[in-house]
Amino acid sequence: MNDRFSDLGVIPPILKALEEMGYEKPTKVQSKSIPHILNKEDLIVKSKTGSGKTAVYGISMLQSIDSDCTAPQGLILVPTRELAVQVDNDLKLMAKYTSHKTTAVYGQHNINIEKQTLENGISIVSGTPGRVFDHIEHGSLKTNNIKFLVLDEADRMLDMGFIDQVVRIIKTIPKDRITLLFSATIPPEVNSICRAYMRQPVTIEIESPTMTVESINQVYYRVQHNEKRTWLNNLLLVEQPESCIIFCNTRMTVDRVHNFLTRNGYSARALHGDIPQNKRLKTMGQFKRRDFCMLVATDVAARGIHVDDLALVINYDVPVEKDSYVHRIGRTGRAGNVGKAITLVTGDDIMSLYEIEEHIGVLIEEAELPSAAVIRECKENATPWLQAQSQKVARRHDYYSNTAKRKSSVSKKKKYTGKVSTAKSGIKSAMPKTNSYKDKPKSQYGYEKTHSAVKKKVTTSITIGPKPKVTEQEVLKAKTNAATSPSPDSKSSFFMRVVKKLFKRK
Ligand code: AMP
Repeated sequence: MNDRFSDLGVIPPILKALEEMGYEKPTKVQSKSIPHILNKEDLIVKSKTGSGKTAVYGISMLQSIDSDCTAPQGLILVPTRELAVQVDNDLKLMAKYTSHKTTAVYGQHNINIEKQTLENGISIVSGTPGRVFDHIEHGSLKTNNIKFLVLDEADRMLDMGFIDQVVRIIKTIPKDRITLLFSATIPPEVNSICRAYMRQPVTIEIESPTMTVESINQVYYRVQHNEKRTWLNNLLLVEQPESCIIFCNTRMTVDRVHNFLTRNGYSARALHGDIPQNKRLKTMGQFKRRDFCMLVATDVAARGIHVDDLALVINYDVPVEKDSYVHRIGRTGRAGNVGKAITLVTGDDIMSLYEIEEHIGVLIEEAELPSAAVIRECKENATPWLQAQSQKVARRHDYYSNTAKRKSSVSKKKKYTGKVSTAKSGIKSAMPKTNSYKDKPKSQYGYEKTHSAVKKKVTTSITIGPKPKVTEQEVLKAKTNAATSPSPDSKSSFFMRVVKKLFKRK
């Protein structure tokens, strides 16, 4: 059995770095894939999010490339700037005791600084396709020594329209190389890349009965559109997470929710595409360091971002893309940790949620909204947690006023770092015992106005789009799921959903 990294043939300097990173033993995807790469085979890895794939290619490349060569020997293409930075950060940690240097290149970053770094002799470059191609065209990224090409999150690169650029990049790289492709799904366009540009690739699929990580407790709450913020606040008081990402579908909603949370004294920050790149990266860094507790974000933050021990993900909006659900909730429950994912669902969203359930092959349990008494009790117990929040807010204010003073001061001697420690609330989460929404008539959860994209999708799925088939197999699967489900409520609601779906299709 490959229970230890040393059993996989990982060399001592990398073993030492992995130990420092807290990687005690390889994950499933690591033990299955690393030996193939070290054996110089092309690889297609289909695996769920957060399973440890960065180390699969990171370790293999770092120990296979030539330390005497100063030109890039590894190129990793990723769909987002955030992921490029994160992959590079992980590589730097893994490379700590080797002589290899790594860097990330991505749009909105200063290209001249990137060129200078590349000139200084870099072994592995991670980057977004557009910027990588710019460097290749400018001659600042030489591809003639590249021995490893990694296409990370290939399906996402396809979704984002990068695939043509990826192909143009591949054509500049010597054919005598190892190509590794990582993707949660293999759509036909990705499959043609595999056929055209890979040499008899070995496919590794990490068996998982579901597309989501088993260690995530997934629930949803039925809420009315105009009560979403109130319920967000109530659920935060009940859950009291030490760290949490709240996902919204639009930038405007992110700003609104962020303002709402800060007005209520929470230590929260916003992250979306309108925020300049350097500020986004800074915010991510601060969140990882736990300088603040709640990140309100669009899907920009959903892919590939690691935050250790992220306790909770809240889908303030049901995601428009079904895959986004998987990626959003994959921010918690990483590397075997236990996590929780809560989704707020309005009457307009419910069909989208059912579609997500079909897509991931799992019934997301409907939870009861906490009663007023439970919320009151949690609020009373929340003082230490709320204090920890306000301390972080206060330190942030201190930081800004100190920074302002420092800027205006003539003697800029003392440097304030603004770093804060992580305060632990020490309060356990309490799950609601009573149900308030179930007593209300269903029509109350009827069709309020909601995000237009979601609405359009729901309408399409009901009236225009091709009707998805519910096969006998699916009904059987539903029965099996319901039979193994811990909650009798969810069993009956699942049957009701299957029955409703069958009825609707007649
Ligand atoms: P990835 O799928 O590469 O994004 O990794 C997901 C998370 O798992 C990251 O936080 C990694 O630091 C962590 N991780 C990866 N491999 C291991 C390992 N062998 N042991 C512990 N944590 C790991």
